[in-house]
Amino acid sequence: MHVIITAPHGHPFLNDVVATPIVRNLEKLLHNTDITFEAFVNLEPRSSGDMNRPSTRGTPFRNLIEEAMKEGADFLLDIHGFPDSTTSPFKGYDIVVLQSYKRQGPLPDLYCKNLKKYAKDYKLKIDLQTASLENDVVKQAYEYGIPAVLVEHNELGPPETYAIIHAGVLININI
Ligand SMILES: [Zn+2]
Repeated sequence: MHVIITAPHGHPFLNDVVATPIVRNLEKLLHNTDITFEAFVNLEPRSSGDMNRPSTRGTPFRNLIEEAMKEGADFLLDIHGFPDSTTSPFKGYDIVVLQSYKRQGPLPDLYCKNLKKYAKDYKLKIDLQTASLENDVVKQAYEYGIPAVLVEHNELGPPETYAIIHAGVLININI
């Protein structure tokens, strides 16, 4: 299985602060497995261009992702993080799968089902919510026929654990 991993808001302290560490850990865990992958982390601040919106298509970061999509992949995993703020709809959860598009094919469902199971094993609270804004990386993946899932992670949690869970799910659903 070939997977594209993206972190469009990966600035290490201004935005989704857990996103980059999750991706880096995931890369280590997937190394030497049957899963091949390409990871794209945007380290620029979200204020200089939201890489998860249609307006940033055509930027170097989005072009790299689009090239990978053109070459083809079985799955795209879009990694995000959120602060445990009282105003957040994600408050109280460790992991939130954010749906914005009709899922395509069996993989996203299988991913979510397994993610739920693994999260439970690690005593993490997981929820499935509907996105209020368009998530353009996921949208573009679907345009290329690549099933995709966007996952939000609470910044209070350890990125190492989140990465272990995602690696476990990917290895388990490997096609
Ligand atoms: Zn984000």
